[in-house]
Amino acid sequence: MSTVLTSTKATTYKFYIKGEWRESKSSQTIDIYSPYSHEVVGKVQAITREEVDEAIHFAHEAQKVWKDISLQERAKYLYAWANELVDMQEEIAEIIMKEVGKSRSDAQKEVIRTAEFIRYTVEEALHMHGESMRGDSFPGGAASKLAIVQRVPLGVVLAVAPFNYPVNLAAAKVAPALMTGNAVIFKPATQGSISGVKMIEALDKSGLPKGLISLVTGRGSIIGDYLVEHDGINMISFTGGTNTGVHLATKAKMIPLVLELGGKDPGIVCDDADLKEAAVQIISGAFSYSGQRCTAIKRVLVHENVADELVKILKAEVEKLSVGSPEHESTIVPLIDKASADFVEGLIDDAIQKGATVVTGNKRERNLIYPTLLDHVTGNMDVAWEEPFGPVVPIIRVKSDEEAIQVANKSEFGLQASIFTKDINRAFAIANKIETGSVQINGRTERGPDHFPFIGVKKSGMGAQGIRKSLESMTREKVTVLNIQ
Ligand code: NAP
Repeated sequence: MSTVLTSTKATTYKFYIKGEWRESKSSQTIDIYSPYSHEVVGKVQAITREEVDEAIHFAHEAQKVWKDISLQERAKYLYAWANELVDMQEEIAEIIMKEVGKSRSDAQKEVIRTAEFIRYTVEEALHMHGESMRGDSFPGGAASKLAIVQRVPLGVVLAVAPFNYPVNLAAAKVAPALMTGNAVIFKPATQGSISGVKMIEALDKSGLPKGLISLVTGRGSIIGDYLVEHDGINMISFTGGTNTGVHLATKAKMIPLVLELGGKDPGIVCDDADLKEAAVQIISGAFSYSGQRCTAIKRVLVHENVADELVKILKAEVEKLSVGSPEHESTIVPLIDKASADFVEGLIDDAIQKGATVVTGNKRERNLIYPTLLDHVTGNMDVAWEEPFGPVVPIIRVKSDEEAIQVANKSEFGLQASIFTKDINRAFAIANKIETGSVQINGRTERGPDHFPFIGVKKSGMGAQGIRKSLESMTREKVTVLNIQ
């Protein structure tokens, strides 16, 4: 069945429920504008609450059967999905590029990485086993008791994804949920929904049993709370901004939640660092996809003895970055929407007004913000603490490792941090005191490889992702005790 409705201008995409592509009974659609061409890329359905109810009902029906299907059988569908994604890589990359403004090659890499993620998820799940426990290992426990501990699915998982990796971060929820025997309600970011449609088209081609997954499109502000508070949802896996995550956590009923939220990852540069290498890592960490990555380096904390030298190298590197359109493979591309560009511009203006120096950048054309380096940033400036999700990097000069640790930890976020030094003992001494889920030594902050645990602390999240962790978070342990007569 076709996913689209023909139209004279933009394509209208349907939503996916019970293995069918449908138009919503609301008769309402949402226009998706390209962040760089400003044209309508397509229209998606604004579905109704009744359709959400229906999707959740079908999910429960399908999950009752799916949970008893063998792991090998589930694996076949997921492998087929991965293969379809690879076959559709160019078509999907084109949509990602147009819809969220990521360069075509990065978009294509996202699709391939997703297929690899799905395959690894299958293999990891196939090799996960429960355990048995003897009763007599506890004082007074009987040798005749044997506990069999298995992992069982939770039921229906609500997967809510952000715009910036509309395929990868969606599949990173859907694949572990399905592989562990759950059904899924997938809510893509509105700006990212068409990429979501394409990803589900690939899954549909695998022949997955009907009802196991639904793609529900519509504004989070309209259907978000209804989904989150719905009695039929048994677990929520959310990636997005901290404000949305905190809101969602207050709404969700007593169900497991995994939240991957914002960050303000510091790049800490010690006075013995290889400054050229540190600069390369900082530039790629901070500016790829215009800094629209949760793990982008979002502030540099540099020892004052080497600050001038580092700033000089960074300036030269930033000025080499290509700026323009994703269609031209530019590193710096227009931000996702006008509000995001306004926000970043506001942070830059506030810092300048309070005494920061512009090393380079501070230029804007519509949603396109030129890569901007701000030096002499101090704690009274918003850019020192806020997540810009754009191409601006504040440089904060520090006098000691202790001061760097103190400034790093003062942030409300705790996703990742990078430390640049040639002294491994110094690196560990700093790393041990940094309050983040991960610390990178002499490398940029980043999520992958995808089988590493990925954890945000403080306002950066709750629970853990990473393939094995995701599989665990979408199951619970169930204990059956055998009393041997
Ligand atoms: P966002 O605005 O928070 O949206 C994320 C998702 O939440 C979207 O699908 C959105 O739908 C939905 N949503 C909105 N209101 C909701 C509600 N009341 N209930 C349920 N869902 C609701 O985030 P974004 O702008 O897409 O992504 C950027 C943010 O994500 C950044 O802060 C970034 O750091 C963070 N992020 C974190 C990670 C990580 O792994 N830690 C990874 C990537 C991104 P609509 O689009 O329809 O509003």
